[in-house]
Amino acid sequence: MKAVLIIGGAVSGSTAAKKLTAEGVRCVIIDQNHMPYGKIEDGLPRWHDKQRTKEYFKIDDIMSHELVDFIPLTRLGKDLHFKDIYDIDWSCIYFANGAWNDRSFPFTEIEKFSNFYYQNPFVYWFNHYHEASYNGPSVDIRDNALVVGGGLASIDVCKIIQLELVRQKIESQIENFDIVEMEHKGIPKYLEMHDIDYNTLNIHGATLVYRRDVENMPLTTIPENADTHMVEKRKLARRKVLENMQNKFLFNVAECTQPTGLHIVDQKLEGLEVIKNEIVNGKPVAIEGSADILKGSIIVSSIGSLPEPIDGVPMDGSTYNIIDQESGKFDELDKVHGMGNAVTGKGNIKASRVSAKTVGDLTIDLLQDVSSDTINTIDSKVKEWQKKVAYDGNYFEWKAKK
Ligand SMILES: Cc1cc2nc3c(=O)[nH]c(=O)nc-3n(C[C@H](O)[C@H](O)[C@H](O)COP(=O)(O)OP(=O)(O)OC[C@H]3O[C@@H](n4cnc5c(N)ncnc54)[C@H](O)[C@@H]3O)c2cc1C
Repeated sequence: MKAVLIIGGAVSGSTAAKKLTAEGVRCVIIDQNHMPYGKIEDGLPRWHDKQRTKEYFKIDDIMSHELVDFIPLTRLGKDLHFKDIYDIDWSCIYFANGAWNDRSFPFTEIEKFSNFYYQNPFVYWFNHYHEASYNGPSVDIRDNALVVGGGLASIDVCKIIQLELVRQKIESQIENFDIVEMEHKGIPKYLEMHDIDYNTLNIHGATLVYRRDVENMPLTTIPENADTHMVEKRKLARRKVLENMQNKFLFNVAECTQPTGLHIVDQKLEGLEVIKNEIVNGKPVAIEGSADILKGSIIVSSIGSLPEPIDGVPMDGSTYNIIDQESGKFDELDKVHGMGNAVTGKGNIKASRVSAKTVGDLTIDLLQDVSSDTINTIDSKVKEWQKKVAYDGNYFEWKAKK
């Protein structure tokens, strides 16, 4: 029998397990959380309710498969060391653990200020703070926030701030106030339904700070082989996409604006020092004499996510040391592959799924049977690990306990 270990059971881990179990491979899946939903639960903002339900269903289906042993609440690098799992002669180990480390803000001194947030804990807070048992990071949403970024996730951060600012002002006036409904309708329409004029709320709004121009913001993809006409068309579409978002959620955009330092007054973080850029051959170039200060009550950094370093797992700078992106093969480690957000550099469900399928396709024929001794070791380890977290193997009963 072939038996693999998968670290992380979300989109990429469960997609790989689906492929492998269909070929009769036993999959042991460890996940650090109670449920293995990854960024579907903790990244994708909670207004994606329909997509969430659809993805949960797919993941549940795999986790309850007879060839899958699920081990929840077990974090590699903390509860288990890499050496402990690498010493077992698995047919393969797959890293499907996503990208949970926020890329460091260029001026790391900012991290000591309580009105500075990184995107991952910020969105986690938004997705969970309303739950009765919530005890995670707290966020104090204030008007005039600055969001440094430029990708789709940074627009979600701006949306969260806008929705929360409006919530603070109107929740007490509206019976059955629903922030998710407000997102689905857009702020102006939702307020109109309740006879409220946005202008009377005195909200200035969050500002997205982006170092390039909007045409270069990765809001839509531009195929590599696109001709000049298509490139121009797609770039204009990007401005349109952003304008539509701004009309629905009323945030501001400071394009071609690059932070150069922190604006600190009386030891308080009050904003960012910035310069203006012009775009020359697609690259941002500082405009001389354009130094300025952007005041901000809170600052959120949304400049990308990286995989978390794990003791014993080789890194190449801030990413895992993969020798071949397609197969996700780790350098220096035998029979270890990465997939999904952990290796693609793309925060995108489809990209994670495609990566997991490709890694599965490219490795399935290389998997070797494990010995009966190894099977015995795996059986006893699975029992030991499940017992430690009081998981009795009934996935749906476990889910109901959450
Ligand atoms: C704000 C925001 C908005 C987004 N919007 C969209 C969108 O609109 N459309 C879209 O397609 N995508 C969107 N995404 C991205 C998308 O959600 C992710 O790219 C995708 O879900 C990643 O799937 P994954 O399985 O590769 O990684 P993850 O979902 O990160 O899964 C990794 C799993 O590994 C587990 N894990 C991590 N470390 C360990 C460890 N050390 N030990 C054990 N387990 C571990 C985690 O608990 C998790 O279950 C968004 C992301 C964010 C943050």
